[in-house]
Amino acid sequence: MLTLPPFEYHAPTSVDEAVALLAQHKGEVKVIAGGTDLLPNMKHRLFTPKHVVGLKAVAGLDSIREEANGLRLGAMTTIASLARSPLIQQRLPSLALAAAQIAGPQLREMGTLGGNLCLDTRCVYYNQTYFWRKALGFCLKKDGTVCHVVKAGKKCVAAASNDTAPVLMTLGATVCLAGPSGVRQLPLAEFYVPDGIVNTVLRPDELVVEVLVPAPSARLRLGYQKVRVRASIDYPALTVALAARVYAEDRLEQLRLVVSALGARPHTVAGLDALRGRKLDAAVIDEVSRVAHKQCHPLTSINVDTEWRREMIPVFIRRAFAQARTPVLAS
Ligand SMILES: Cc1cc2nc3c(=O)[nH]c(=O)nc-3n(C[C@H](O)[C@H](O)[C@H](O)COP(=O)(O)OP(=O)(O)OC[C@H]3O[C@@H](n4cnc5c(N)ncnc54)[C@H](O)[C@@H]3O)c2cc1C
Ligand code: SF4
Repeated sequence: MLTLPPFEYHAPTSVDEAVALLAQHKGEVKVIAGGTDLLPNMKHRLFTPKHVVGLKAVAGLDSIREEANGLRLGAMTTIASLARSPLIQQRLPSLALAAAQIAGPQLREMGTLGGNLCLDTRCVYYNQTYFWRKALGFCLKKDGTVCHVVKAGKKCVAAASNDTAPVLMTLGATVCLAGPSGVRQLPLAEFYVPDGIVNTVLRPDELVVEVLVPAPSARLRLGYQKVRVRASIDYPALTVALAARVYAEDRLEQLRLVVSALGARPHTVAGLDALRGRKLDAAVIDEVSRVAHKQCHPLTSINVDTEWRREMIPVFIRRAFAQARTPVLAS
């Protein structure tokens, strides 16, 4: 049986109090939201914080609100609430689809949006017990000096495995981070960095408090596709999120495509601006699939054949486009 290491639990009731606790115990503290990622990781001795700051008692972090210029999603909103919210299903269907495919039902009731965005990167050589990792030899991400996936690598390439991040990136979301000097906002795409040891720019004394999503328009077409071994519970082996904004006769005004579960951060497919003005037809979809296939290289950090996953990229991009035929219900 795997047990938790000892720690002191704190239950602040405000964001300011939570941030003060993070600053006070810097280097020895972790935030806990639903605990569905943190607690297994602590049991594996991947983290052994002396202090744990729980966010459950902090008021006002769990709402989904629509305002004139978009939607505000609180960090403590559960994944299950995102999946079943009629507002999210109508306005941001790709986000509802992604949320509904995270983990299994119990984990979706416990897990939160903030925890999902801050999910630790995953790797077959890392998400193991202390005994397992010691027997193999530790790695760069924790206690060691080498990467078992990219032998000469100096950066960890453990996979970004959160389902909401790629979707929210295609939606142009902004993340709000509360710290000792107030709240700062940054585009979610800039929140992630290409090193799986810590793949976000979140500072140790900061919290994710909210995500802002620009108001969707009826010209938006959204899709989300996920490959996983067991559809009932598994982390992604590959995900494809797309948001296409079209004008008259389905001509492309903007196309955002993010492919994830490849490396340490979700990959925004580059070079799609060249398709602006083209009709969103089979030829364009083939072209997008070719561009993405060329740019995306799955790694062995995930225990599903890399060549197969790569060949699935065009397949799942086509499926995401098929799903994206229905216009979003704008307000
Ligand atoms: C069997 C299994 C299957 C899973 N499958 C999937 C899957 O398919 N897709 C997927 O995306 N996830 C999956 N997960 C992971 C997890 O359940 C979800 O990502 C969940 O949304 C995490 O949220 P949480 O609130 O439980 O996070 P926690 O475990 O509480 O926290 C996760 C991390 O985020 C930090 N954190 C939490 N909230 C904040 C905040 N507001 N500000 C700053 N830091 C914060 C914590 O310190 C910790 O480092 C799976 C987990 C399990 C156990
Ligand atoms: S990618 Fe390399 S460094 Fe990162 S967790 Fe896996 S083995 Fe460790």
